[in-house]
Amino acid sequence: MAHLGYAFRTKSMPSAFTHAFFAASLGSVMMPERKGLIALGSLCAVLPDADVIAFSFGIPYAHMLGHRGLSHSLAFAASLAGLLAWIVTRRERDMPVGRVAAYWFLAIASHGLLDALTDGGLGIAFFAPFSTERHFFPWRPIAVSPISVRRFFSERGLVVLANEFATVWVPAIGLSAIGVLWRRRRSERT
Ligand SMILES: [Zn+2]
Repeated sequence: MAHLGYAFRTKSMPSAFTHAFFAASLGSVMMPERKGLIALGSLCAVLPDADVIAFSFGIPYAHMLGHRGLSHSLAFAASLAGLLAWIVTRRERDMPVGRVAAYWFLAIASHGLLDALTDGGLGIAFFAPFSTERHFFPWRPIAVSPISVRRFFSERGLVVLANEFATVWVPAIGLSAIGVLWRRRRSERT
């Protein structure tokens, strides 16, 4: 468990709440009528950080299968989104498979994109498994969050939450509001 302890000490992501909230706001714009699909999208947006389990197997952070590696890549987002969309739309044939897959892709890919805006840890292997190179955006306004629950609810956790509220939640709420206004205007025209 020493390696897992290392992972817990490593500040390396926006909090799970923030990833889920951002994915939900995307869903509120792209498919507001599908609450179940949005809930699943939020869950999937948190999923890439399950890769911290790699530390307990001795896999280094910088490895393709390490934290912020393959599970944070665009290929992973596309594969999982495609698979889920195929499964769900096979059962419910009235669902537009392209829109469902596009939403889930963006929801899952948003995880790595938000991580690439954080000010700590290693970069994101966006192009794994084709490249192990790690990437950040040039502008990194999001403070990294402690992974452990105990540390998260510490003073540092509160500072991080305040930062995430300003840098992610406010823009996400703005995105949802634009979606609501756009739909309202469209329904007024028809
Ligand atoms: Zn992450």
